[in-house]
Amino acid sequence: MADSSISDLFAEKSAPVLSYEFFPPKADKAFESLRRTIAVLRGSTPDFVTVTYGAGGSTRARTLEVAALLRDAGFGPVMPHLTCVASSCEELAETAEEMYGAGYRNIMTLRGDPPQGESTFTPCADGLRNACELVAFLKSLHADFCCGVAGYPETHPEAVSTEDEINYLKSKVDAGASFITTQLFFDNEHYFRFVDRCRSAGIEVPILPGLLPAVSLKQIRRFTEMCGSSLPAGLIGELERVGGEGDAAENAGIRWCVEQIVGLLENGAPGIHLYILNRSRAALSQDLATVFKNYTA
Ligand SMILES: Cc1cc2nc3c(=O)[nH]c(=O)nc-3n(C[C@H](O)[C@H](O)[C@H](O)COP(=O)(O)OP(=O)(O)OC[C@H]3O[C@@H](n4cnc5c(N)ncnc54)[C@H](O)[C@@H]3O)c2cc1C
Repeated sequence: MADSSISDLFAEKSAPVLSYEFFPPKADKAFESLRRTIAVLRGSTPDFVTVTYGAGGSTRARTLEVAALLRDAGFGPVMPHLTCVASSCEELAETAEEMYGAGYRNIMTLRGDPPQGESTFTPCADGLRNACELVAFLKSLHADFCCGVAGYPETHPEAVSTEDEINYLKSKVDAGASFITTQLFFDNEHYFRFVDRCRSAGIEVPILPGLLPAVSLKQIRRFTEMCGSSLPAGLIGELERVGGEGDAAENAGIRWCVEQIVGLLENGAPGIHLYILNRSRAALSQDLATVFKNYTA
């Protein structure tokens, strides 16, 4: 059966929307661990779940395998990601048709990163140059594809200017994107300023804040270096205070994330996208459940 559209979910649900992001592991052992996480998370009820598409377009089959696992476990809608990396239009159409045929109607639509060591993105021969083109391409294949796109509260590292980037984001929405999920950030002010800039530019679609419950200091240093998001001194301090890693650090990361969620929902965010990184702890946190319950009541 085909998934319902996430844009309808945003339009119809009066309470905040909650989504989890999974990634397809490369190693079989990690795949087993993901199966266990999915089993544990069955009791929680995100409104939708997403599955990333590997760097270099490397995980097409595994993205769909994880998507199927999530669907079999009762999660839905399930939203596979798709990138332009290393794919001609013919290959992109093939993948999109496979997704459509399997009932996926929601696609997180991305350009993807340049290969490691390169700073600019070079499209594949006969491929697409950016997420905007991919949105238009998917919509031309099936008008009922619901496309989510990425937004960058702290501006994408390749942006010429913040203003240019917001204009470009508007073109992704004008091409047919139904909502925006943001890059991770640890200071809500970045999100609120970003939303203001988007609204001033005439971008009206829901902007779902993406949050990473930090697991360790080492992990978030690596992540923020990769994606260009900033790391507040307060969060570094909290993690250092408990040794930087291990259970206590993960708990501190979850506490920070829950505080961010409270601030975001209190100030009108339409929901939360959690980069759970195939871990169940943050998603099952009682504090998180309580926050969402308060907003649902
Ligand atoms: C929610 C989310 C999910 C992600 N999932 C994945 C995933 O599954 N797999 C993966 O490999 N990566 C993923 N990424 C990372 C993403 O691929 C990178 O951030 C990538 O560098 C940009 O992809 P994009 O879709 O934002 O690109 P685009 O929106 O096409 O462009 C990225 C940036 O380039 C600039 N730009 C591009 N074209 C123009 C133009 N014509 N005019 C002006 N500026 C332009 C803008 O600054 C723009 O923000 C994800 C990121 C987010 C936020």
